Amino acid sequence: MDYYRQTQLKEYNSFKTEAFAKILCKPGTISELRQCLSDFPNEKKLIIGKGCNLFFTKDFDGLVICPNIKGLRNISDEEEEDEDIFLEVNASEDWDHFVAYCVERGFAGLENLSLIPGTVGAAPIQNIGAYGAEVKDVIREVVAVDMETGETVSFSNAECEFGYRNSIFKRTNKYLVISVVFHLKRTFVYIPKYTDLNKELENIEEPSIQDVRDAVIRVRKRKLPDEKVLPNAGSFFKNPYISKEHANKIMTDYPSLPAYPMKDGLIKTSAAFLIDNAGYKGKRVGNIGTYPNQPLIIVNYGSSDGNEIVRFMYEVQKTVKEIFDIELEPEVRIF
Ligand SMILES: Cc1cc2nc3c(=O)[nH]c(=O)nc-3n(C[C@H](O)[C@H](O)[C@H](O)COP(=O)(O)OP(=O)(O)OC[C@H]3O[C@@H](n4cnc5c(N)ncnc54)[C@H](O)[C@@H]3O)c2cc1C
Repeated sequence: MDYYRQTQLKEYNSFKTEAFAKILCKPGTISELRQCLSDFPNEKKLIIGKGCNLFFTKDFDGLVICPNIKGLRNISDEEEEDEDIFLEVNASEDWDHFVAYCVERGFAGLENLSLIPGTVGAAPIQNIGAYGAEVKDVIREVVAVDMETGETVSFSNAECEFGYRNSIFKRTNKYLVISVVFHLKRTFVYIPKYTDLNKELENIEEPSIQDVRDAVIRVRKRKLPDEKVLPNAGSFFKNPYISKEHANKIMTDYPSLPAYPMKDGLIKTSAAFLIDNAGYKGKRVGNIGTYPNQPLIIVNYGSSDGNEIVRFMYEVQKTVKEIFDIELEPEVRIF
C-alpha cells in the first residue's frame, strides 16, 4: 500500500479548507487497514470518508486514513417474501447511491435520508438524520476495527449509544467503521412527520418510497447549497436543548420560537431560528457567511483558511449567546 507524505487536504473536505497531512493512506481491504495501523502505531489518526462534515484550521500532524473498502451483501434469511431485509454495506460505499439502491428495490427505511452527502461508514458516527428520521432506527449492527489493537469489534444498536448527532464512535475516536448492517422493511407506509415534506407530497394519496425520495430530493435542492458548487458542510450547529422555563422566557419576546418537547422534559429548539433572529440570515463577513435559504449552513465563498470559518462561528455563537443565553454547539468537526 502507498503512503503519501505532506498531502494537501483541500480535496478531502467539502469546505475546501487547505491543510497538509503528514501521512495519508487509502486502505482497500481490512488487512491493508491493519497494515497501516501497525506501520504507524504512534501517529495520531484521522479518518476521512468524503469530508462532508469536517474542515481544517491547521495541518494534520499524523496519519490520515481514507478507507476505500467497498461492497454490499444481502444477508437476509432465505425467503424472498420476507418482510425483513438485512444488508451489510462496507464503509466506503456512497451513502446516497446506497439509499437509491434500496428505494429502487422497495426496501423501506432510508428514503427520508436521501441526498445526504458522504459515505456509509460515516453515517453512524454522528447518527445522520433528516426529515424526522435518524439512521439509528435502521441500524442493526456496526462492525469496526479498534485502531489501537487492530481487532474487529461488533456493536449492536444499543452498544452504539446513539444520541442526537452522536454515538460511541464520535465520542471515543477509537474505532474505524468497516461495515454497517441495516435492517429494512418491504412494507412501506408514509408517516407524515415533517411539514416541508408533507407539503411536497400533499397531492399524492398514498406516496410510494420513490415518491418520498423524490420529494426529499426536491426540498433539499431548493433549500440547501450544493457543496460542490458552494463549499459547506451542511448544518453547522446542532439544534440546542433548553429548559421549559428558558424557552418560555425567550417566547415572551419571540412567540414563534420553535419548541419541541423531548422525553427528558427539555425543549429542543431551532438553531436556524436563533441565528436568523440574531441577524445572521444571509450575512457575510469576508469570504464566509450563512446561506440565505438556510441560516444554519455556513458557506465558504472563497477562503482556503479554516480559521476564517472559526472566527465567523465565534461571532454567531457570541451574538446568539448575548440575545438568547444559548450556547450553540458545532455539529461539524474542526481539526
Ligand atoms: C450539503 C450538505 C448537507 C448535509 N445534510 C445533512 C443532513 O441532512 N443530515 C446529517 O446528519 N448530516 C448532513 N450533512 C453532514 C454529512 O453529510 C454527514 O455527516 C455525512 O455522514 C458525512 O459523511 P462523510 O463520509 O463525508 O464523513 P466525513 O466528513 O469524512 O467524516 C465525518 C466524521 O466521521 C468520521 N468518519 C468518517 N468515516 C469513518 C469511518 N469509516 N469510521 C469511523 N469514523 C469515520 C470522521 O473522522 C469525522 O469525524 C450534510 C453535509 C452537507 C455538505
